[in-house]
Amino acid sequence: MQLLKQYSNGMWDSIKPEEEDYYIEAILKRESWFAPRVGREPMTTKEQVMEYLKTGKKLDYDDEWYAVIKIDLPKKPMPPVEMVKCDCGHTVPKCSVMSTSTGTSCPECYDRMSM
Ligand SMILES: [Zn+2]
Repeated sequence: MQLLKQYSNGMWDSIKPEEEDYYIEAILKRESWFAPRVGREPMTTKEQVMEYLKTGKKLDYDDEWYAVIKIDLPKKPMPPVEMVKCDCGHTVPKCSVMSTSTGTSCPECYDRMSM
Protein backbone atom coordinates (compact mmCIF):
# COMPACT_ATOMS: atom_id res chain seq x y z
CA MET A 1 0.00 0.00 0.00
CA GLN A 2 1.68 3.21 -1.17
CA LEU A 3 1.34 6.34 0.96
CA LEU A 4 1.59 9.76 -0.60
CA LYS A 5 2.45 13.10 0.96
CA GLN A 6 1.67 16.51 -0.43
CA TYR A 7 4.13 19.35 -0.95
CA SER A 8 3.34 23.04 -0.55
CA ASN A 9 3.15 23.32 -4.35
CA GLY A 10 0.27 20.84 -4.36
CA MET A 11 2.27 17.98 -5.84
CA TRP A 12 2.03 14.51 -4.33
CA ASP A 13 5.09 12.38 -3.68
CA SER A 14 5.44 8.83 -2.46
CA ILE A 15 6.46 8.19 1.13
CA LYS A 16 9.32 5.75 1.52
CA PRO A 17 8.53 2.67 3.64
CA GLU A 18 11.05 3.77 6.29
CA GLU A 19 9.33 7.18 6.51
CA GLU A 20 5.83 5.78 6.97
CA ASP A 21 6.00 5.47 10.73
CA TYR A 22 7.09 9.09 11.08
CA TYR A 23 3.92 10.32 9.37
CA ILE A 24 1.64 7.80 11.06
CA GLU A 25 3.07 8.78 14.46
CA ALA A 26 2.46 12.44 13.67
CA ILE A 27 -1.14 11.68 12.70
CA LEU A 28 -1.75 9.64 15.84
CA LYS A 29 -0.42 12.48 17.99
CA ARG A 30 -3.02 14.81 16.48
CA GLU A 31 -5.89 12.35 16.81
CA SER A 32 -6.79 13.12 20.43
CA TRP A 33 -7.78 16.68 19.58
CA PHE A 34 -8.58 16.31 15.90
CA ALA A 35 -10.92 13.29 15.99
CA PRO A 36 -13.50 14.87 18.35
CA ARG A 37 -13.64 17.91 16.07
CA VAL A 38 -14.81 15.78 13.17
CA GLY A 39 -17.06 13.67 15.37
CA ARG A 40 -15.28 10.35 15.59
CA GLU A 41 -13.26 8.31 18.05
CA PRO A 42 -9.52 9.00 18.03
CA MET A 43 -7.49 6.35 16.25
CA THR A 44 -4.69 4.83 18.29
CA THR A 45 -2.91 2.35 16.02
CA LYS A 46 -1.19 2.41 12.67
CA GLU A 47 -3.64 -0.22 11.43
CA GLN A 48 -6.57 2.08 12.14
CA VAL A 49 -4.89 4.92 10.30
CA MET A 50 -4.24 2.68 7.29
CA GLU A 51 -7.83 1.45 7.27
CA TYR A 52 -9.04 5.05 7.42
CA LEU A 53 -6.80 6.08 4.54
CA LYS A 54 -8.00 3.11 2.51
CA THR A 55 -11.44 4.70 2.39
CA GLY A 56 -9.84 7.37 0.20
CA LYS A 57 -9.77 10.07 2.89
CA LYS A 58 -6.76 12.24 3.67
CA LEU A 59 -5.25 12.84 7.08
CA ASP A 60 -3.35 15.85 8.39
CA TYR A 61 0.00 15.23 10.04
CA ASP A 62 0.77 18.90 10.65
CA ASP A 63 -0.95 22.29 10.73
CA GLU A 64 0.12 23.37 7.26
CA TRP A 65 -2.67 23.16 4.67
CA TYR A 66 -0.62 20.83 2.51
CA ALA A 67 0.59 18.61 5.37
CA VAL A 68 -1.67 15.71 4.51
CA ILE A 69 -1.12 12.14 3.46
CA LYS A 70 -3.30 9.74 1.52
CA ILE A 71 -3.06 6.27 0.06
CA ASP A 72 -2.39 5.88 -3.62
CA LEU A 73 -5.53 3.88 -4.33
CA PRO A 74 -5.79 2.00 -7.60
CA LYS A 75 -8.22 3.73 -9.94
CA LYS A 76 -11.59 2.09 -10.10
CA PRO A 77 -12.22 0.52 -13.50
CA MET A 78 -15.02 2.18 -15.40
CA PRO A 79 -18.22 0.14 -15.29
CA PRO A 80 -19.03 -1.35 -18.68
CA VAL A 81 -21.51 0.75 -20.62
CA GLU A 82 -24.84 -0.93 -21.01
CA MET A 83 -25.94 -0.95 -24.65
CA VAL A 84 -29.60 -0.85 -25.53
CA LYS A 85 -31.33 -1.51 -28.83
CA CYS A 86 -33.84 1.23 -29.52
CA ASP A 87 -37.09 0.97 -31.44
CA CYS A 88 -35.39 2.92 -34.26
CA GLY A 89 -33.16 -0.08 -34.79
CA HIS A 90 -29.89 1.40 -33.54
CA THR A 91 -27.94 0.22 -30.53
CA VAL A 92 -26.66 3.01 -28.28
CA PRO A 93 -25.41 3.40 -24.68
CA LYS A 94 -28.35 3.29 -22.28
CA CYS A 95 -27.70 6.88 -21.12
CA SER A 96 -28.29 8.28 -24.61
CA VAL A 97 -31.56 6.46 -25.27
CA MET A 98 -34.33 8.99 -25.90
CA SER A 99 -37.99 8.44 -25.52
CA THR A 100 -40.34 9.54 -28.28
CA SER A 101 -44.03 9.28 -29.05
CA THR A 102 -43.38 6.19 -31.19
CA GLY A 103 -40.92 4.45 -28.88
CA THR A 104 -37.31 4.68 -27.82
CA SER A 105 -34.76 6.17 -30.19
CA CYS A 106 -31.11 7.06 -30.44
CA PRO A 107 -30.29 10.80 -30.48
CA GLU A 108 -29.83 10.79 -34.26
CA CYS A 109 -33.27 9.39 -34.98
CA TYR A 110 -35.02 11.46 -32.34
CA ASP A 111 -36.51 13.99 -34.75
CA ARG A 112 -37.73 11.30 -37.15
CA MET A 113 -39.18 9.19 -34.35
CA SER A 114 -40.94 12.17 -32.78
CA MET A 115 -43.00 12.86 -35.92
ZN1 LIG B 1 -31.53 5.41 -34.36
